Amino acid sequence: MKVDDVKVVGVLGAGTMGNGIAQVCAAAGFEVVMRDIEQKFVDRGMETIKKSLSKFVEKGKISQDDMDSILSRIKPTLEMKDLENADLVIEAVIENMDVKKAVIKELNELVKNDDAIFASNTSTLSITEMAAVSRKPENFVGIHFMNPVPLMRGVEIVRGLLTSDETLNFAVEFVKKIGKEPVVCKDSAGFISNRILMPWVNEGIYVLYEGIATKEEIDKGMRLFTNVPMGPLELADLIGLDIVLAAVETLHRELGDKYKPCPLLKQMVAAGLLGRKTGRGFYEYK
Ligand code: NAD
Repeated sequence: MKVDDVKVVGVLGAGTMGNGIAQVCAAAGFEVVMRDIEQKFVDRGMETIKKSLSKFVEKGKISQDDMDSILSRIKPTLEMKDLENADLVIEAVIENMDVKKAVIKELNELVKNDDAIFASNTSTLSITEMAAVSRKPENFVGIHFMNPVPLMRGVEIVRGLLTSDETLNFAVEFVKKIGKEPVVCKDSAGFISNRILMPWVNEGIYVLYEGIATKEEIDKGMRLFTNVPMGPLELADLIGLDIVLAAVETLHRELGDKYKPCPLLKQMVAAGLLGRKTGRGFYEYK
């Protein structure tokens, strides 16, 4: 399939990543169906999109009319069946292989376009393993967006063992079409981005756990020492601590002991301190 053949993009999950993906696809002119499992998640996703687009309007990057037409192209839903006309589906449900496989199996039955491309936004999990339960493993690819999606330019394209050249090229062209820059890599735990970034975040949490410095000093230090916009603890709060833990656990399982999750990270997830999305992580948010 060619990118120009795509009319409808299905997005599974309206959370941190799903709503951003829905927004950038609609902004590029695609019809988008964004599905989550509870009304409150769908509502929160749409609110986030409205806030993000409003900021673009305030800055003069888009007009109010643009904002209205982008919003009109996004259909929020609780019904899986509403994805039946999708030509491309991007799953951005929680970072759990069983949940991802279950939604892919549902899509196998439901999506009418035989040539449809299925993609996963997973941070670390195996594209090859997900592809194995999809109806056409050659049409399955990783399209890994960065957070916050509307602002971050790089998108990682992950080639599973059976991903075809055609599907890989499709993903590259699609990412360009929505105004982002593709970076291609093989299917390996954490790909490029999280293989490097997650150990950095986990190590930042260890530095706090071992009492080497306060959270403020760790974040300020790393911002000043390496010129990154956020320190590791601020970044963990932005990503979501549950997502960080799942990612580090995958690296640990696949690549060995040097990636062991910090006990403090596990405790904070157990306590429900997930970062910005729950109002409290390493820092508090209104
Ligand atoms: P999130 O917790 O913010 O959102 C996930 C959403 O998926 C939730 O709203 C949940 O209700 C929904 N969901 C669960 N089961 C579903 C189903 N069967 N159908 C539809 N929706 C369902 O998580 P997130 O941060 O958006 O992460 C989503 C994916 O993106 C994960 O695979 C994660 O690893 C990846 N990712 C996250 C980040 C980040 O910075 N948070 C960055 C890149 C990739």
